[in-house]
Amino acid sequence: MGGEVSLIERIRVRAATRPDVILGIGDDAALLKVPADHELVLSTDTLIAGVHFPVDTVAADVGWKALAVNLSDLAAMGAEPAWISLALTLPEADSDWLDAFLDGYCELADEHRIALVGGDTTQGPLSITITAHGLVPSGMALRRDGAGINDDIWVTGTIGDAAGALRQWRGNGLMSAKLRHRLDRPTPRIAAGIALRDLASAAIDISDGLVADLGHILQRSGAGAEIDLGRLPTSRTLAEHFPDDADRWRLQLGVGDDYELCFTAAPAHALAIEQAMAACDTAATVVGRIVREPGLRLRTPEGESFEPAIGGYEHFVEPAA
Ligand code: ADP
Ligand code: MG
Repeated sequence: MGGEVSLIERIRVRAATRPDVILGIGDDAALLKVPADHELVLSTDTLIAGVHFPVDTVAADVGWKALAVNLSDLAAMGAEPAWISLALTLPEADSDWLDAFLDGYCELADEHRIALVGGDTTQGPLSITITAHGLVPSGMALRRDGAGINDDIWVTGTIGDAAGALRQWRGNGLMSAKLRHRLDRPTPRIAAGIALRDLASAAIDISDGLVADLGHILQRSGAGAEIDLGRLPTSRTLAEHFPDDADRWRLQLGVGDDYELCFTAAPAHALAIEQAMAACDTAATVVGRIVREPGLRLRTPEGESFEPAIGGYEHFVEPAA
């Protein structure tokens, strides 16, 4: 146990730095050098115990996930992550918990050579707010508003695994270890986002489910889409645990937490995208295409239309029974 100052000191000694950090932890604010001809990409996400992760999640996984969900937003912009600000609210000054949290946080931060440059430490119900700062060459960021008619719709990795774990958690509480790993340790698709800068027309990360997140691209791009449900990239583990197609599709479409990328691209770029994704060891699958008619149409492998009756998770909205 220790006070705020000793907690901050525990963080400071483990915080990575980099040459573009002029002043990091220890002053009133951080001082950072943005390289010429680059734009600063900034995103904030909060994780609250019991809302964004099961309360029994081990501290190292909380540390990983808090960073991963923020890096995922930078990935969806095609940004390269650089600097992190970490606001921690802890129920008590538990240095063991903090050390384990930092184990998970640092594992992912070090993988991407990210500096921890500041933050805030307060007492209260467990919550973690991270502001991630990334860099992108000027004018090269991936946005939600660029999808064009006839563009392919792509998804990285597999989707629905974290949703499957959440369903099991809310059921009898027993989660498949593989599915739970996807929920606790999402992989931010940083290399894929960077590789897509001059190939994708629009991108978003899937935090609220494919329907809701692709819906944001459609709304901002003023277009509609058709999705072939038979093409949704599905892990073998998810298919084993959720063998009913319609049930599994609802998980894949309506619940997020996978933090895969959904992006659109002209069909002419398909081969280049396959090569670029292979080069960064990221699976990517075409699941449908952008169409002029507004709205999202889902088709089963038999060609029938499918109405999932789902929405993405929204705070302050009571879920339907
Ligand atoms: P101030 O009162 O000026 O905001 P603080 O005592 O909150 O200063 O913070 C002191 C220094 O430690 C600042 O540089 C701040 O950015 C850093 N800091 C505080 N909490 C954290 C944290 N959880 N992670 C990283 N840096 C932190
Ligand atoms: Mg402060």
